[in-house]
Amino acid sequence: MTVSVDPHMCEAHALCTEIAPEIFTLSDDDDIATCDEHPSEALLPKVRAAVDACPRQAISFGTEQS
Ligand code: SF4
Repeated sequence: MTVSVDPHMCEAHALCTEIAPEIFTLSDDDDIATCDEHPSEALLPKVRAAVDACPRQAISFGTEQS
């Protein structure tokens, strides 16, 4: 699975980091979220939840199957 956060869209609402702290981290300096770009497939439900929760639609992901 690949995950990315668009730094131009993210406004650091931090919903993703609350839902999936294993994947998303807020940077201290410029207040955007960064992420593990290749998390385990087992984390897919959490990635989906973070995508749904993000008010900026800044998160995108892909899987081998899709
Ligand atoms: S929920 Fe969206 S806008 Fe908020 S920190 Fe995460 S990626 Fe950025």
